[in-house]
Amino acid sequence: MKIICIGRNYSEHAKELGNAVPTEPVFFCKPDSAILPKGNPMMIPDWTNDLHYECELVVRINRLGKNIPIEFASRYYDEIGLGIDFTARDVQEELKKKGLPWEKAKAVDGSAVISNDFLPWQNSASQNKIEFSLKKNGELVQSSDHTNMIFSIDQIIAYVSKYMTLKIGDFIFTGTPSGVGAVKSGDLLEGFIGDKQMYRVKVK
Ligand code: MG
Repeated sequence: MKIICIGRNYSEHAKELGNAVPTEPVFFCKPDSAILPKGNPMMIPDWTNDLHYECELVVRINRLGKNIPIEFASRYYDEIGLGIDFTARDVQEELKKKGLPWEKAKAVDGSAVISNDFLPWQNSASQNKIEFSLKKNGELVQSSDHTNMIFSIDQIIAYVSKYMTLKIGDFIFTGTPSGVGAVKSGDLLEGFIGDKQMYRVKVK
């Protein structure tokens, strides 16, 4: 199982970090050791002073595929969940300046929060907006819906599968909207799709 993450997939978020809005998807991977075990707190590593939350819709791949044509991409998932792509922003900024890969900032243990529940996704034109949000200590800090993505889930699947085989059980983090920010010990993060609470994560 692998975790593929899309960067800069909401234009307001790209702008808030001073990045250009991309013309093709940006992606990176997290190892399976990054998944935060259910019920565990996120432990802030001692080598970062700026660990950020990024609330993201997460797709679980349900069939094997490579070089998937975009018109068939919707056959490769049928559920949507919610996650957090924790990012050591200070470390990432240093890596970006040097043109280096981002794993040191992105792959830390616990940095991939994935909801227990996944909700059915209807692959149809009548699909309602999937609204999602994140609260920090009870205060709304991020909210958006899937129609604000620069690259749709189908576009992401077609693009990524050109470069690597997608397998059953792989997760794709689809990018974060604006409103990212730092966490400190004692914070509580709660993610929602619509009104449904998808996860509750304590930070230590
Ligand atoms: Mg992200």
